[in-house]
Amino acid sequence: MSLLEVDDVKITYRTPDKDVHAVNNVSFSIEEGDNYGLVGESGSGKSTLAKSVLGLLDDNGEIRSGSITFNGRELTNLSEREWRDVRWEEIAYIPQSAMDSLDPVMTVGEQIREAIHTHKDVTDAAANERVEEVFDIVGLDPGRTEDYPHEFSGGMRQRVTIAMALVLDPDLIIADEPTTGLDVIVQDKIVQKLMEIQEEIDSSLLLITHEVGVVAETCDEVSVLYGGKVMEQGKTFDVFNDPHNPYTMGLKNAFPEVDEFDENAISIPGSLPDLVEEPTGCVFRNRCPFATEECESAHPPLVGDEDQASACYYNDRADELQERAADPETW
Ligand code: ATP
Ligand code: MG
Repeated sequence: MSLLEVDDVKITYRTPDKDVHAVNNVSFSIEEGDNYGLVGESGSGKSTLAKSVLGLLDDNGEIRSGSITFNGRELTNLSEREWRDVRWEEIAYIPQSAMDSLDPVMTVGEQIREAIHTHKDVTDAAANERVEEVFDIVGLDPGRTEDYPHEFSGGMRQRVTIAMALVLDPDLIIADEPTTGLDVIVQDKIVQKLMEIQEEIDSSLLLITHEVGVVAETCDEVSVLYGGKVMEQGKTFDVFNDPHNPYTMGLKNAFPEVDEFDENAISIPGSLPDLVEEPTGCVFRNRCPFATEECESAHPPLVGDEDQASACYYNDRADELQERAADPETW
């Protein structure tokens, strides 16, 4: 049994005119102690998936089908009361832009202690001791727990949000774009820190990012999302070293290096499909330089094994397509 199993999940947002099909038949699982990456460009459904695992979908969002289990327990039908025991204690969440949403009028220590007291009946002294412990784990000075958010740099504020996620010793931490908005050197330090923490406290990590380099450095396994679908998934090394899917090839071109701006970056022209219509054909076909008539028939199934599976009709031509994808003229 995996720690987290997301099985064939479909998530739709109702809007005044139409439904937005944000996540379509996505499956992946995270083993205990593993780091798992969800990568894809803006609007691909990453945050929607993360929020569904925490029961925090926006009010107009709905899991239409599929199942999400955590330690074998079905999460899609929990009551709000049951969620309260799962969130933070079992699954902690570092939301997108978390570092900007710290309360400016409370010290960071007060905010973390509040989170502890909401879930655990402990003395203030014990809570404080725990705050100092997690400060230490994330590499912040335990003497600064009573500073206000504005007294910290962006990178340090992000460490505070990581400390907050660790405080109840969760089995799984979901971090949504934890390095976005930070300069590259700080990004690197945060990524290193997340890796160290994962080893030290033995939790699992679901890391969400649009940056291939961050996932490549941090995660054992990955799902590459596009238009609410898994385009490719498996062992991170296999997926990025030898991508079978043209979308993964394109993403890799767009982020050739982890920690430097690369003038060789080639971005994928075009934009995400309209998610209001249920996609017919391969969801990437309108931007794929290799698309053929066959790609219009239906979205291709994920084909492969546990190490690597790709949703493309031309998986068996991956070597040739990789070569063509590396040429800027192709895009
Ligand atoms: P980003 O990298 O920009 O954070 P993402 O991969 O996290 O993107 P989501 O936020 O999950 O993407 O959004 C997936 C799709 O669902 C997008 O088309 C988005 O516009 C749409 N969406 C998200 N929230 C809502 C909502 N409350 N109502 C309607 N549509 C929504
Ligand atoms: Mg997001």
